[in-house]
Amino acid sequence: MKLVRLGIFALIFALLFSISFKPAEAAEKSRTIYLYHKTPLYKSNSTASARIATLAPQTISVFSKYGDFYKVRTSKGRYWIHPSDFKDEYGRHRIYIATSLSLYTAQSSNSEKKAVIEPQYITVLAASKSWLKVESTKGTGWVNLAEKLKVAYLTIDDGPSKYTGQILDILKKKNAKATFFAIEPNIRAYKTNMIRVNREGHYIGLHSVSHNATKLYKGSSQNVAREMEITRKTLRSVVGVNHYLTRVPYGSKPYMTKSFRDWLVKYNFKMWDWTIDSNDWRYSTSQYTTIIRNVKSGVLAVEKQKEPIIILVHERPQTVKALPQIIDYLKARGYTLVTYNPSHHVVSNFWNDGRL
Ligand SMILES: [Zn+2]
Repeated sequence: MKLVRLGIFALIFALLFSISFKPAEAAEKSRTIYLYHKTPLYKSNSTASARIATLAPQTISVFSKYGDFYKVRTSKGRYWIHPSDFKDEYGRHRIYIATSLSLYTAQSSNSEKKAVIEPQYITVLAASKSWLKVESTKGTGWVNLAEKLKVAYLTIDDGPSKYTGQILDILKKKNAKATFFAIEPNIRAYKTNMIRVNREGHYIGLHSVSHNATKLYKGSSQNVAREMEITRKTLRSVVGVNHYLTRVPYGSKPYMTKSFRDWLVKYNFKMWDWTIDSNDWRYSTSQYTTIIRNVKSGVLAVEKQKEPIIILVHERPQTVKALPQIIDYLKARGYTLVTYNPSHHVVSNFWNDGRL
């Protein structure tokens, strides 16, 4: 009995020992990171927040971490960084891949392609010219930083809705990612669907509260920014993400004259229109092949103009029917369907306003 008790004490002691010493060791390691390149310093943990300064390459003290962001001590105060190339608190060489890249089994584009990795932080294990051996969310393999992957953006407006689940099932099956532009009352009405969109790796943008052209564009030029701000806050409270990409209802032309756009800029928003309109809302479910045809001819036209492929569709039953073939067509033309990436913002609006 005594021996058993002694054993238990020894076990408790061993546990206490490991508990008290291991975190201390981790804290020791977590104090500094090394920045290999010039790094922007942000006001908050978002690349859309104000830039305070640019940090020179250096070893820097870290206070806390939030997602991919580090809060650091600088001469300007304590602010946030999202470093592109750095040695982390565990001594790993980490880089941020801002565009999607193919993950190969060996250092050759002729080797087997294991997966496509989305924009993310990867750990560099070895480097040889533009090729890196990396550890990613899709496993270990080789990427070529010089690769120009053909990407297409599928944007799905007016949800979430009762069709969101079917759309997500199709995207999952086809291994495609999309950007959903959500209307504020729908975020509240279809919370579960909105949370699932985020969980499955798609991006959620803001598409106003009223979706009403009179309310948005006929009054104060601040109205659009105000509605987007309400939508941003609702999305943040329902899903827990803080997103700034907007799409204004009915497109930015002719409504979004300079004073309207100035307000979006003041609120830190970005604004996307589209380059390919599927016109899906015009057709019935039985006419869904016309939607596919519209996208195909749009892709060919945009390829000639060398613009980004940003396709507009809506959460409608006819679109659910057309979606599998639209995705198959894009893949057959060599496109990877990726989400909007705030760290690698692509300007695409009808006014060519570079601020948005
Ligand atoms: Zn809309």
